[in-house]
Amino acid sequence: MSTIQVALGTRSYSITVRNGLIGQAGLLLKEAQPAQNTVVISSKTVLSLHGKQLFRSLRRAGLQAETIVIPEGERHKTLATLEKIYRSLSRLHANRKTLLIAFGGGVIGDVAGFAAASYLRGLPYVQVPTTLLAQIDSAIGGKTGVNLPSGKNLVGAFHQPLAVLVDPLVLSTLPLRQLRSGLYEALKYGVIRSATLLDLVEKKHRRFPKRDKESLQQMITECARIKAEIVSQDETESELRMVLNYGHTLGHALEAATHYKAFTHGEAIAHGMIMANQLAEQLNGLDAAEAARINTSIRGIAPLPRPRRLRWTDVYQHMLSDKKFVDQKFRFVLPRHVGQVDIVKDVPRSAVQSVLRSYLHAES
Ligand code: NAD
Ligand code: MG
Repeated sequence: MSTIQVALGTRSYSITVRNGLIGQAGLLLKEAQPAQNTVVISSKTVLSLHGKQLFRSLRRAGLQAETIVIPEGERHKTLATLEKIYRSLSRLHANRKTLLIAFGGGVIGDVAGFAAASYLRGLPYVQVPTTLLAQIDSAIGGKTGVNLPSGKNLVGAFHQPLAVLVDPLVLSTLPLRQLRSGLYEALKYGVIRSATLLDLVEKKHRRFPKRDKESLQQMITECARIKAEIVSQDETESELRMVLNYGHTLGHALEAATHYKAFTHGEAIAHGMIMANQLAEQLNGLDAAEAARINTSIRGIAPLPRPRRLRWTDVYQHMLSDKKFVDQKFRFVLPRHVGQVDIVKDVPRSAVQSVLRSYLHAES
């Protein structure tokens, strides 16, 4: 078992990673907050696969639990879903001592987290993430929110959870493509902070999630440790937290240009990391052998879906309206070595255009 601290003064909390943890969630939650009433916010899929275990452990700890079921998927990460949660909370007479439990992937974590941030001006909540991406990334750090038709995550708040409970065993039911999506983000942490982590993902990922449960737990712990360390130093992304955006400048634009349908988030980031490496070779002194090594790790996870029939100009247009285009300049996270990246705030447009054009041409 590992426990990692997110150090944010009075809003500090721990991330616990342990195989089988869902079965002990009730007792841990009781420690985190002496609440009597809890409300689990989750989806049909997650509840049908893992709900029994969670509710049993809540009951054993003497906690009462109500449930709010919300619809699945990114297209429901909306104000409409949020309103449904508010109405249910009101019907259940939730008060400021009611503990919300976000039980699911990143979509549920983000929506339920924002409901917790805003209902009655703020309720306590815990994250119990059930996808790899949520366990290593979205459940940690307190970013919550929903999408608008005009863009992702445009409405939200920073609201830190009281605890994050990670049970890697729940990943045994995750579809393989979703697992891989998380693995690309795990590789991202390796490139930005830890060559050892990159090695571990490279060597062991084929055994995940059903075999070598120890290495899976170790990988998740290491990623969570890196995210916790970064968030502890820069909660609201004034500078350092930006390093987590490696692969995301081009990745987000690829997702948007394909209407979030062609790639999972991790797959788009994988393409984005490979393109960022090309820029890093030109602009940040990344040597060709190290770039090749990172690219081989990324492509070693699985063949990436190709960005077919996609015009580079469409992707580029999306980059121009992204948060990472500031003062007419592109901001990229570029590796210098495996384990060390720089935030480069003035990547020339011509370099971006040329990498994007040649990459899409070669891949299509
Ligand atoms: P998701 O929440 O849509 O989950 C993917 C699918 O997996 C869903 O269909 C879900 O029902 C299913 N699922 C979940 N757990 C399962 C399990 N154990 N077994 C079988 N199926 C399971 O997707 P995601 O990749 O977890 O999260 C993506 C979201 O996370 C995006 O909206 C993104 O913006 C957000 N995100 C937020 C942050 C943050 O800091 N808040 C960081 C990264 C990503
Ligand atoms: Mg990401």
